[in-house]
Amino acid sequence: MAGANAELSAWLDAAVDPLVACDANEQVCFLNRAAERLFAWKREDLQGQPVSRLFPERMRRHEGQSLVRYLLSRRDALEGRPTRVFASRRDGVEILVELTVGTSGQGDDERIVLSLRRLHEVIDTLREPLEHPRHAGAARLVETRARGEDLYRLVVENAPLGIFHYDTSPVITACNERFVTILGATKRIIVGLNLLSLRDEGMMRCVRETLAGRSADYEGDYVSVTGHKVTPVHVRFAPCYNDAGAVEGGVGIVEDVSQRRFAERERDESLALLTMLFDSAPVGLGFVDARLRYVRVNERLARINGRPAEEHLGKDPHQVLGPGGPAVEEMLRRVLETGEPVVEEEVDTKVMGVPGPRRLLAGSCYPVRAPDGRTLGVGVLVEDITQRKLAEEERERLYHEAQQAIRVRDDFLSIASHELKTPLTPLSLRLATLERRLERGESVDPTLLRHARQHLLRMTGLINDLLDASRIEAGRLALHPQATRMDSLVEHVLQAMDAQRGGHELRYQRPENAVQVFADPYRLEQVISNLVENAFKYSPDGGVIQVTLETHGELALLSVKDPGIGIPEDQQRMLFERYFRARNVSSRSYGGLGLGLYISRDIVERHGGRIWVESQVGQGSTFHVALPLLSGTSAHPPATQPDRHVH
Ligand code: ADP
Repeated sequence: MAGANAELSAWLDAAVDPLVACDANEQVCFLNRAAERLFAWKREDLQGQPVSRLFPERMRRHEGQSLVRYLLSRRDALEGRPTRVFASRRDGVEILVELTVGTSGQGDDERIVLSLRRLHEVIDTLREPLEHPRHAGAARLVETRARGEDLYRLVVENAPLGIFHYDTSPVITACNERFVTILGATKRIIVGLNLLSLRDEGMMRCVRETLAGRSADYEGDYVSVTGHKVTPVHVRFAPCYNDAGAVEGGVGIVEDVSQRRFAERERDESLALLTMLFDSAPVGLGFVDARLRYVRVNERLARINGRPAEEHLGKDPHQVLGPGGPAVEEMLRRVLETGEPVVEEEVDTKVMGVPGPRRLLAGSCYPVRAPDGRTLGVGVLVEDITQRKLAEEERERLYHEAQQAIRVRDDFLSIASHELKTPLTPLSLRLATLERRLERGESVDPTLLRHARQHLLRMTGLINDLLDASRIEAGRLALHPQATRMDSLVEHVLQAMDAQRGGHELRYQRPENAVQVFADPYRLEQVISNLVENAFKYSPDGGVIQVTLETHGELALLSVKDPGIGIPEDQQRMLFERYFRARNVSSRSYGGLGLGLYISRDIVERHGGRIWVESQVGQGSTFHVALPLLSGTSAHPPATQPDRHVH
């Protein structure tokens, strides 16, 4: 019998599957080598112990019966198929097994055989304390192993990622708590779950990949088995190999990416917002990398640079801006080297040699740094300030002009009051003398009256000039042109002015023929007398004043030449401006309001003519007037309407 038993033991030990036999009281009487390996029990230690020790507490009773009896009672229903149960190793580690229970014999002779097939290990917390092995050496070994497994379990359990294992079926055989949390189910539901039942093609593709020995990534929304929870997950699938090197299943490492997705969405939103701000900013914005190549520019900068935005990318300022490039590059390099920003540096495209219309730009550059302090490149901000600058310049010009006008007005007021007052004193003196003489019954010298009248005429002349100037300004100086003999008119004016001649000699060179113009005789007389008066005024007594009238082509040419003080060359251009007086005439030595030539020019030009001067300081001056002859064809007939005045 003993021999038969030994033989049977040897057969059973040779079996691949673990086998455990127990008696009617469910006490272990035999376990083969495979079972010893599976449960980490030595045969002699387990013999006589209740077989229930091989199962975790919770598995031991079902519907009021022991696990073994329960499975035996269901034998017919199971028709020999195994039942998947958790078994418990000696060290407390739970393992998933397929269990088939059979029985033979009756009563006390009854023998119950448990045939097991190991599925994969379930990672679970150690619930029972380790038993202390008897031998110190073995104890150390067991302890070391236990500690190793303990650690392994701790690592897996505490991993911030869900971890699960599946076999080739592909059925989930083990997982950690994190995975359970992510899936929102219980471990009992999850372990044993066939991944196919998830009906997720993406996931299945990954599973197939791993079973074919390749890693794969899955990203998607996991809908929990209860359907209540949707979790965005990222799963890294990798194949698992058995000792023989064959794929025996796979492992999935699951990351709950809800936070990441949320952060990504937020990042995308802020990026979109930034892009929008960047693109629609009313200033030019750009970024160049540390090699001074454009990485990005907005529309405005592209427009300022005169190249489409995409033509900037990867190029340096020299390639994009041509002749303007070096200056910009220099500025960018300075920022990179010093780390100091350049703020609102004004640049003139003309000065930079950029072709096209002149533009004024204000450029700022600042270093762009990564959070760790590394300089990534340079941010560029460019504003086209041409309009602003021009407006500023215009404002300055207007301000300057206004200041000038105020000065001119002040000067004019003081000159005008002085000029108007000057004739008053002699006039008043002459009138007083006249009064005295008349009172005394003395005879009155007509010279006295003539002088008084001259002062009066001078005042009238000044007032008339003032009125004419303001009429010209308002465009209301009326002209009444008619066919006029200019030669006779000049003669008449010169005769009338003979009294004012003083010591001057007045020479008149007449034209050979009559000179007819279409002009307002009164205004033309005003021009001639103004020129002759000036010749008297600005040349020394005794000087010869030469007046010439001649025709040239279709023009009547009048010139008044004097040997006087002359006019500085740089002042000649402004001589015909209102209130202008050359710097070599002081109001003390030469009275005048600076209006005569201004009025003369207006009159001449409105007759379609031209007035100009030739002069040298100290050498005298010649004023010329050219008017279209009446018979001639004038391009500019004199304006008859006062409002047709042109300055
Ligand atoms: P006014 O003689 O009253 O100052 P005008 O308009 O007639 O005003 O002349 C303007 C300025 O032109 C004069 O102030 C003087 O500086 C200069 N000017 C005019 N005629 C002569 C001249 N014949 N010789 C030198 N300077 C002259």
